[in-house]
Amino acid sequence: MVLADLGRKINGALKSLTAESVIDEKVLDDILREVCAALLESDVNVRLVQNLRKNIKQIVDFEELGGVVNKRRQIQKAIFDELCRLVDPGVEPYKPKKGKANVIMFVGLQGAGKTTTCTKLAHHYQRKGWKVCLIAADTYRAGAFDQLKQNATKAKIPYYGSYTENDPAVLAKEGIEKFKKEGFEIIIVDTSGRHKQEAALFEEMKQIADAANPDHYIFVMDGTIGQAADGQARAFKDAVPIGSIIMTKLDGHAKGGGAISAVAATGSPIIFIGTGEHIHDLDPFKAKPFVSKMLG
Ligand code: GDP
Repeated sequence: MVLADLGRKINGALKSLTAESVIDEKVLDDILREVCAALLESDVNVRLVQNLRKNIKQIVDFEELGGVVNKRRQIQKAIFDELCRLVDPGVEPYKPKKGKANVIMFVGLQGAGKTTTCTKLAHHYQRKGWKVCLIAADTYRAGAFDQLKQNATKAKIPYYGSYTENDPAVLAKEGIEKFKKEGFEIIIVDTSGRHKQEAALFEEMKQIADAANPDHYIFVMDGTIGQAADGQARAFKDAVPIGSIIMTKLDGHAKGGGAISAVAATGSPIIFIGTGEHIHDLDPFKAKPFVSKMLG
């Protein structure tokens, strides 16, 4: 993952601190310049980078701090904390409730990885002992139902879909009613994407949401989209109350900055990252260990 590059660059900037015998405002400015350049190169939203710089400059108070060691520690801590704040909106991640039907609706652009990730998440809960099922409410993309059916069959997860019904809201409603009656605990609804953030996509999403009345919305975002992440995440957030984010394709050439921008744009936590096409390629995401690992 290219995020490692970001970690290396930030780490490089922090290491240069150790070499300084005097740490003053100029040293801090130089380090912040390097850190911010690394973040921008990784496609983190410009406004967020500016805020990070401003916050760190406010936190580090040269008058108050004692010797070089103390100053160094304070600067390192301030940078670490601000990086954590970027990927952690401070919201408790969603937890499904046992003994009831929890409806989770997936949204995101076409190709983001929704259908693949639906099965990954279903498999994750199934392994933990939940009674899980999938609903294919994507009637826009030809082949979407077959793809979900194939994945679900392989993973032995019950599914619902249709080759003839072309109203996704009707499909979602029918599937949810059926699975609720059968005592399923986690009902995951896959929806269509479209290529762009079109009005029709958001209208359809709202109709499915009205019919499905989900307990939770997961926004699936392609981790390789870079600076477009901010606008895309905002557009989805405006259409439905996104609860959490799953960032896909972080195994490839994703710079990862999009993930950071999406968290800020939606105020929602990233709960998992997709690290490949296989059903097991889904890693839980936690902000502090993520930043620690990124910084090596
Ligand atoms: P949808 O249109 O949002 O339902 O997207 P799909 O689930 O069909 O995924 C689009 C493509 O991305 C497929 O070829 C998937 O195999 C691939 N894909 C999904 N998640 C990941 C991931 O985490 N890593 C990689 N490398 N590929 C992924």
